[in-house]
Amino acid sequence: MTSDRPGYLAQHSAHDPAELARRWSRLSQQGCLTESTLLDDGEFSVVAYETRQSPGARNGLYLCAGVHGDEPAGPWGLLEWAEANVERLRDDFAAVIFPCFNPRGLAENTRRDASGTDLNRAFHDRANPLIAAWHRFMEGRKFRLALHLHEDYDARGIYLYELGQKDREIGEAALRKCEAVIPRDTRPRIDDGDFTNGLLRRTDGIEEIVADRLGGGYPEAIYVHLHHAAFALTFETPSEFSLPDRIRAQRAFIDAAIGTAFL
Ligand SMILES: [Zn+2]
Repeated sequence: MTSDRPGYLAQHSAHDPAELARRWSRLSQQGCLTESTLLDDGEFSVVAYETRQSPGARNGLYLCAGVHGDEPAGPWGLLEWAEANVERLRDDFAAVIFPCFNPRGLAENTRRDASGTDLNRAFHDRANPLIAAWHRFMEGRKFRLALHLHEDYDARGIYLYELGQKDREIGEAALRKCEAVIPRDTRPRIDDGDFTNGLLRRTDGIEEIVADRLGGGYPEAIYVHLHHAAFALTFETPSEFSLPDRIRAQRAFIDAAIGTAFL
């Protein structure tokens, strides 16, 4: 084992939500973040962090990782980004952060939660206790930019869904800034969507997608875009690539998207 290997590999903790939580706890003190527990099942808890600056429609930033437990690069990339930006979180950013939305799934390396629900098709479902808590937490909140961090086993590179505005495009510039880490998936069809050089951008007809293609189940990004955020970007890294590269790509994407959206 080499000493320069990242900790999550050296200690086999890529799927350890407790290790992730310990580092967020330390970070939250340094960054003066406020912690709220959305759900605690006695073994795992889902938490949200808020910065001292209150997010709004012009400056607000929403960051979420780990909705799918078998996609570890998102939570670790988000953590590493936050650790590198702790002073900006303390002094500049107006942000809400969900560091690991499905910790049991992460521990068990499964996409779904303990009840077998794909949370990313359930963001409308207030009968789900976690989603109900999320709705209470989100009530009345507005953001400029929401980032949803995911991975895809079939992907051949990075790719991005942009839900945004007709008069302002941010996804392409964000992808361009992070493709040096992992190149784009350039296939025209990815996961049943029509992509252009790794980007699928929508500015209208979004509600119809839920009804027509997703059986009425709302992904987080669609729900957040329709109710809370001007831009919602879902970033995907390819699960078969090396984990350190995927984590670097996730971190680079967060930097790139923020840099682009808040220009
Ligand atoms: Zn996912």
